[in-house]
Amino acid sequence: MWDWAIWANFTALLKHMEVTTLAGSDLAKNPVIAQMGLHNHEQVVFCNDNATGLKAIIAIHNTILGPALGGTRMWHYNNEMEALNDVLRLSRGMTYKSSVAGLNLGGGKAVIIGDAKKIKNEALLRRFGKFVNSLGGKYITAEDVAMTSRDMEIIRMETDHVSGLPENMGGSGDPSPVTAFGVYVSMKASAREVWGNDGLNGKKVLVQGIGHVGEVLVKHLTEEGAKVYINDISEERLKAVAAAYKAEVVSADKMFDLDIDVYAPCALGATVNDDTLSRLKCKIICGAANNQLADEKLHGEAVGRQGILYAPDFVVNAGGIINVFYELEGYNRSRAMAHAEKIYDTTWNLFQLAKKEGIPTYMAANRLGEQRLEAIARINAVL
Ligand code: NAD
Repeated sequence: MWDWAIWANFTALLKHMEVTTLAGSDLAKNPVIAQMGLHNHEQVVFCNDNATGLKAIIAIHNTILGPALGGTRMWHYNNEMEALNDVLRLSRGMTYKSSVAGLNLGGGKAVIIGDAKKIKNEALLRRFGKFVNSLGGKYITAEDVAMTSRDMEIIRMETDHVSGLPENMGGSGDPSPVTAFGVYVSMKASAREVWGNDGLNGKKVLVQGIGHVGEVLVKHLTEEGAKVYINDISEERLKAVAAAYKAEVVSADKMFDLDIDVYAPCALGATVNDDTLSRLKCKIICGAANNQLADEKLHGEAVGRQGILYAPDFVVNAGGIINVFYELEGYNRSRAMAHAEKIYDTTWNLFQLAKKEGIPTYMAANRLGEQRLEAIARINAVL
């Protein structure tokens, strides 16, 4: 009988060999297409408009599961290669995030090069919308860094292929409550793996970043009886959230030395690094922030050696993309919440896969994503 696992390993190996060859010889000479080949990106669109000053890159990594959905980020990159690297990395991440979340979406992302405070205006955004529209729905955009729901409304003037619109435009509105719920259920699945039951009552949880997601997470945790510590750079947020949920404020220089059970990074990336890992005493890391591991391989393996269970960020924080997906279907928050609840099972399943295969959890999450992509690619090939 045909063994698909062997076939998958074999094709993965071939892909890797192809990549190594490209990386070795061609990358410097052909920085764009060779770069796309590294992770098999389907299409990259470079957008320029002198009149508005728009310079953007749209990357479509993979459309096996459906149209490539991912936000547009505006950033003052130092140079074009930096922007290209970012959009390629982020669009690939979206393929995995949607795949693991069980969504019929591919992975894409866009970057607009420039300082949003200086160059963002209606004409530039509408010009960008026209570029998105020219892709005929193969790429669907949404909010990301330095973009607002008002910006999405403007882009929507030129294209239907926008998601994450405000509620008064028939959109799904703020995704944060759905994201926070996903983090909460993922934390419960992690607790079950570590302590044998998923109760968080009495557990000590540090939530770093109490913005849109962090605050709702604090609410879920305190409702269940967890002891919550909070940290943020905003004094105002700290005061408000401490008062509303009786959470204990902890300073940045002390938080990683606390005696805690769970660390929930909900502010920024790369907070799981050499410094914090040498201090953290928790048993679980599970939070909303993207790219929590400063170095995926290095720190993804180090957590396990330290006896910490790492719930991979893109699995944990999939509530946001789940919310946006349901907007495409005619938005219904209870359907989005029901789907976000499945993050519990996904988290649990990936822990079981990691144990069975003897691999770190970040790798198990990637494997889950690849398994679904390969399975659907096979059925797509059937006439
Ligand atoms: P937010 O901007 O509303 O909140 C972030 C909070 O972190 C703010 O209160 C900010 O003051 C605080 N912060 C910033 N730097 C900090 C630092 N160095 N130390 C402590 N606190 C700091 O963002 P959000 O929507 O709550 O998202 C939180 C994280 O989750 C982000 O990394 C975001 O990319 C990720 N995420 C969010 C969603 C969503 O639905 N909002 C979905 C997926 C991933």
